[in-house]
Amino acid sequence: MALDFPEDIPCLESEVLIIGSGAAGLNAALRLHVQGVEHLRIITEGLQMGTSINTGSDKQTYYKLAGTGQDSPEAMAADYFEAGGMHGDLALVEAALSSRAFHQLLNLGVPFPVDAFGRVAGYQTNHDQASRGTSTGPYTSRDMCLALQKEIQRRNIPIDEGMEVAKLIHQTHGQTGETRCMGAIALDRTAQPRAYLAPHVIFAVGGPGGLYHQSVYPKVHNGAIGLAMEMGARCRSLPEFQFGLSSTAFRWNVSGSYMQCIPRFISRAQDGSDEKEFLLDHSLSQTEILNWTFLKGYQWPFHTAKLPGGSSILDILVHIETTQKKRRVFLDFRTNPQGYAFKTLSPEAQDYLHCCHSVQERPIERLQAMNPKAIKLYRTHGIELEKEPLEIAVCAQHNNGGLAADHWWQSENIQGFYPVGEVNGSHGVARPGGSALNSGQVGGFRIADFISAHPATHWNPHKAQEQAQSSWKELQTYLYQCTTATKTAMDVRSEFQQRMTAIGAHIRSSKRLTQGLKEAQHQFAQLLQEGCLAQNPQELWHAVKNRQLCLAHLVYLDAMLFQVESGVGSRSSALVLNPEETNGQLPLAGWEKKEWKFSPEDVSFRDYILETEWKHNRCQHRWVPCHPISDEPLWFESVWANYHQSAYFQGWKISDERWHSRA
Ligand SMILES: Cc1cc2nc3c(=O)[nH]c(=O)nc-3n(C[C@H](O)[C@H](O)[C@H](O)COP(=O)(O)OP(=O)(O)OC[C@H]3O[C@@H](n4cnc5c(N)ncnc54)[C@H](O)[C@@H]3O)c2cc1C
Repeated sequence: MALDFPEDIPCLESEVLIIGSGAAGLNAALRLHVQGVEHLRIITEGLQMGTSINTGSDKQTYYKLAGTGQDSPEAMAADYFEAGGMHGDLALVEAALSSRAFHQLLNLGVPFPVDAFGRVAGYQTNHDQASRGTSTGPYTSRDMCLALQKEIQRRNIPIDEGMEVAKLIHQTHGQTGETRCMGAIALDRTAQPRAYLAPHVIFAVGGPGGLYHQSVYPKVHNGAIGLAMEMGARCRSLPEFQFGLSSTAFRWNVSGSYMQCIPRFISRAQDGSDEKEFLLDHSLSQTEILNWTFLKGYQWPFHTAKLPGGSSILDILVHIETTQKKRRVFLDFRTNPQGYAFKTLSPEAQDYLHCCHSVQERPIERLQAMNPKAIKLYRTHGIELEKEPLEIAVCAQHNNGGLAADHWWQSENIQGFYPVGEVNGSHGVARPGGSALNSGQVGGFRIADFISAHPATHWNPHKAQEQAQSSWKELQTYLYQCTTATKTAMDVRSEFQQRMTAIGAHIRSSKRLTQGLKEAQHQFAQLLQEGCLAQNPQELWHAVKNRQLCLAHLVYLDAMLFQVESGVGSRSSALVLNPEETNGQLPLAGWEKKEWKFSPEDVSFRDYILETEWKHNRCQHRWVPCHPISDEPLWFESVWANYHQSAYFQGWKISDERWHSRA
């Protein structure tokens, strides 16, 4: 079937357009409806698409104010803030609204466990001392989506499924230079376009799942941050990705009990021959291997603070095996690692295994005793851990950074545009486990409060339609190029994904980023000039995804290089190699591999946030100081007066720090 497109694009208007139907998008729609904004429309690739409905972990965590003890929004905000690189106003909002958001989910029937008296049970998650974690099991985010979908359907909020957003419609004012988002152009499953126009556009497209070759994002999820970058939307903390050990045939984190049962790490040649316990090749003692494997269970993801000599060495050795030696790595649950003996384990591991009644002879038996669902989960995806080893790699899992929005979740530099969920980069260097889901819910409350108080008096539908037609013309040029291009969409995708995994994942260096960035710029320029081959509607969806993903990979790499060149050093999930570093350390004491010397973190950067914009076909960056957490007293009469005067609807003063482009 030859692809053809109409001259003019049909337009559909609503007061609010919500792009994306993950946990964040659905909640934003619900909150708006509750607040009386009823002329809404959700558009999405599909209700079964995205990360929330397709992913989880051995106990997928939701982070919220603790239900017992002496927790407070201020204490929770301080924990968010302490990790660095996060604005204090956002930390306070995410903490203050967490109870409200969580209780809405409980009231919608999401099965979070409560005791006989209705108290919510909590546990400690990473970067958390207050037991703020809770969970419905492996599929918390899916349970949230299902409950939210039910409520959205009950309220008859329209959802257009099967729509791939290919471009955001926006206009920049000639005199003021202000940019306003006015809607989006999407292609349906037959590749026919439609423009959705709205004065308020909520962008809930999830994290950039399609950027990396080695990734634990669900295969169906690619994200769409590149569409916002193309519009010039400000980003923040882009380099702050998280990476960790994950299975690859079925994408799932191998954290928690998958490591605490202490499986055997093996590698094989590509053809399956030459099996060996490769960790033993690297001057690690058997006891170190056993104890670091156990610790990896809760020291997941990869973290530079767990080096030198700590559980993160496992991620590095897996990386060396898969990327440098080009071998395949597996976890074998059927037999013990060499030298395994219960009494040689650390007291911490012994206690834990004892308490879980997991002292059996083999890893699979220990896992069965500790968490039988963990085995069943793989079985339902066709993988029998009792019979075969599980292939793993170090995979991209989450981006703490993303688009920059104020504390009402409106973009810092694009009016009428509200990024929410993982695409909103509210978190910084680290985040407590479970806070991604909290942030996505809190954001919906803020957006609804803001939009319901700000009717769109400025809206001019004729102008929006004109802008839609001219945006459609621009997009058409690319679409027609794709119908005759030579490179396939999957070849183009694979090229930038491989590049990101090779140089923009957990191991980074100035030299390799500099070289890779040049290649990225070349690939993006070529893609804009030539397109990539699309001969049917499905391929065209991939082609439009490639355009925004390819831009996004370039912007991410530029931001990573700027961060490395700024001298931030190694932090969180990014190890910055520099053999010339005078204060450098090796991941493992006594290692001969000098090329693995890494720069220490310059902790003074934790007080700053890296902002990035794509403007006039190049990236510009700047470091802005973190906003402090407000210390305004909560005096009832003042809050009452301000609340009724709507005095709170102001964003933070936007920074006037100067921008820098790399030469
Ligand atoms: C393996 C794994 C484990 C995790 N565990 C945890 C955890 O324990 N705790 C925690 O807090 N977080 C966890 N996370 C992160 C968390 O699951 C995600 O951040 C969150 O679910 C994202 O929700 P979202 O609504 O922002 O996006 P998503 O759920 O990804 O939804 C995005 C939506 O946008 C749509 N969309 C995207 N692009 C387009 C387009 N171009 N056109 C139309 N529609 C589009 C998608 O189809 C989808 O509907 C985990 C993530 C992974 C991968």
